[in-house]
Amino acid sequence: MKTLLLADIHSNLEALEAIFADCGSFDQIWCMGDVVGYGPDPVKALEVLRSHDFRCVSGNHDAAVAGVLSVEEFNHAAAWAARWTAQQLGSEQLAFLRELPLTREEGPFTLVHGSLRAALWEYLVSVEAAAASLALLNTSYCLVGHSHLPFICREQMGSAPRFTEFPEREPMRLGEERWVVNPGGVGQPRDGDSRSSYAIYDTEEGTIERRRVVYDISKTQRKMELAGHPESLIRRLEFGH
Ligand code: ZN
Repeated sequence: MKTLLLADIHSNLEALEAIFADCGSFDQIWCMGDVVGYGPDPVKALEVLRSHDFRCVSGNHDAAVAGVLSVEEFNHAAAWAARWTAQQLGSEQLAFLRELPLTREEGPFTLVHGSLRAALWEYLVSVEAAAASLALLNTSYCLVGHSHLPFICREQMGSAPRFTEFPEREPMRLGEERWVVNPGGVGQPRDGDSRSSYAIYDTEEGTIERRRVVYDISKTQRKMELAGHPESLIRRLEFGH
């Protein structure tokens, strides 16, 4: 069985389509949240994802759009996008976002947006945050999003967890060691590479492979300009930060 691992899609339909063209056949999609927010295609992105076996947890943007979380904590551009997104979605799609769980277990994986200590808000980017999540982890592996930064963080028995690179197109074999994994951002990468980032979990091989794909950034940007999105959100897509 093959599962797509997606995080931080952010209503970016062109990025999603590029991934579907690149990934080959798959059985399920596991998503670590932030399906919507920032981007121009919340309705279509949700429709496309939900036409598959789509297993998702809530991100802070999903919760804000659904009215579960106040946009007070968001910066101006993010708050604007959350309000705009809420206006685009129908009541059924809003209810879908509202009902997303904070965590879910799929086989040996636990999915969460931020961290197991603060599901919607914590950026799991420090050794201390990784150790705290590993202490709360009931499965072998944890899948996260939120930072839009790809990495594998490995538990080290008797010492602090270690962040390592998650290389491209190099299947990484899962083993005894517990990992926290971020596949990178689908719809708004922030590691200085504008290409969309995602991963594939192959059950038979017991591997996770990360991939990058080029997508039509200017098409996404044109849609954002037409809808009146803040300039900062439009520009950052081409820089990947
Ligand atoms: Zn995000």
